[in-house]
Amino acid sequence: MKAPSEERHWAPHCQVEARGSSTQGKGLFSCAQFKRGDVVFTERPAVASQAIDNLHLVTVCAHCHRTVGALSTQLARRAELAELELPLEPPSCQVVQCEAGCGEVYCSEQCRADAKAQGHALLCVGDSTEEDPLFVHKVHSMETNDVFLLAAKVASAVLTRCVDYDVVSLSL
Ligand SMILES: [Zn+2]
Ligand SMILES: [Zn+2]
Repeated sequence: MKAPSEERHWAPHCQVEARGSSTQGKGLFSCAQFKRGDVVFTERPAVASQAIDNLHLVTVCAHCHRTVGALSTQLARRAELAELELPLEPPSCQVVQCEAGCGEVYCSEQCRADAKAQGHALLCVGDSTEEDPLFVHKVHSMETNDVFLLAAKVASAVLTRCVDYDVVSLSL
């Protein structure tokens, strides 16, 4: 499992220093000049979730949230043109299904593996029956408030990290 610091990336030419400023107080200051629009820093969120209201509009990777599948499919869905014949094109991004068949899709084998290692293994309903508490929770969350799905992701991510760092052990 990657520690959070491994998923943070500074711009290649960016060096920073911690110091005080008479106008801004103590802080982290860049030693390089940037142009408007330059990316200074990127970081993957600890957890993220696509809003339920957005699911029918666009298919995204359940881990990194990059769009997956063919552009024409995304456009057809977005414009409600799904029944029109659109020219075929190569997929803009592959679609990788969750191995257990829960319905989650990913943009790559790597995202699928990362998602599984970072908490999806605890939340996957692929092998669940409709009576399984995980399945009931997922349906309830989708019907009432998708923030419950995000809360479950937070809990599973924290629990997974605790297991990774030998704070707790799980027997599944
Ligand atoms: Zn992805
Ligand atoms: Zn799954």
